[in-house]
This record gives sequence, C-alpha cells and structure tokens, in this order.
Amino acid sequence: MAPKLILLDQDGVLADFEQGVRQLWQQTYEQPLPLAERRHFYLCDDMAPQYHQQLAQIYSSKGFFSSLPPMRHGIAAARRLLEAGHDVRICTSPIQAYHYCVAEKFDWVCQHLGEDWLQRIILAKDKTWVRGDILIDDKPQISGSLIPQWQHWIYDQPYNRSQTKQRRVNWAQPETWSELLQ
Ligand SMILES: [Mg+2]
Repeated sequence: MAPKLILLDQDGVLADFEQGVRQLWQQTYEQPLPLAERRHFYLCDDMAPQYHQQLAQIYSSKGFFSSLPPMRHGIAAARRLLEAGHDVRICTSPIQAYHYCVAEKFDWVCQHLGEDWLQRIILAKDKTWVRGDILIDDKPQISGSLIPQWQHWIYDQPYNRSQTKQRRVNWAQPETWSELLQ
C-alpha cells in the first residue's frame, strides 16, 4: 500500500480507557464499576444516573489519563505502521475537564511510545478539521463542522459493534489491518 496519512485515536484505540476507569473506580470506591452491558460509546450511558458524578470525578482526577494501561498490541501496531512508511499521527480530543487530561495525554505517549512520538500528537476537539487518509477511532459516529477528508475505520469495541458500515480494525486480529503493512 502506498504511504498513507494515518490518524490514530488515543483513548479506546491505543490507551485502554475503559480498563483504566474500572481500575480507578475499584481503588477509589472499593467496589466494581456498576456497569450494565456495554452498548453505548459513553460509559455514563450504560450506568445509572446516580453514579454519573462519581464517574466524572474519575475522569477528571489527577493521574487518570497518564496511568491508563495500553491496549493489547496497540503500541506495537502504531510502531509497525510507522515502520511500514506511513505518516502516523495520534489524533485525540481532550475531555471538557481538560486540566490534567491534556498534559497527561502527552505523558502517556512519551511513556509508552517514546519522546519522538510527542511531535505526532494532534489535539482536536473537532477531528473533521484534521487532514488524513484514514482515521482509526472507536467512536461510532465522528461528526464536526467540515466534511472529513479521511475515511473512518472503526476500532473494534463491544460498544460499537452495532455499527456495521465502517471497516473494522482490531490490533489483536492482524487480518483486519495487515493490508496497511503491505
Ligand atoms: Mg476513542
């Protein structure tokens, strides 16, 4: 495949956001995350309203974003895409409670991919403004104020499986993305 500009989302694609929430919830509240079957992109949509405030506290707490575990095979995949000659960028939207999130997203990339990758970070609240050939993202619908130039390949997660239109990628299933390495 000719070199492409590949945009990788960070949370849910490289960083295991949901696992991070589960771990911190358990540590903080000494009980498992009270989560129904995952059907919606936003965790709060699969949780009873009485827990929403506690959930928001987890997201906005110091150290949450920097200590997210990496997604299985995600780091190796990002490196392989770069080695294959693609221009790989990390395209990520900070949460509204940005105070720790923004800096810690950089910390996370530095820690797991190395300092060289810091220059590959693109922070964008609206990803339709970012140029690219392919955006690999776990969010089912990515909208914004422009018509995107990239093609959305959905990163496989339990909460987006009802979405069947996009091409589906899972790092643990090489056949879903090995085409990018050829
Ligand atoms: Mg995501």
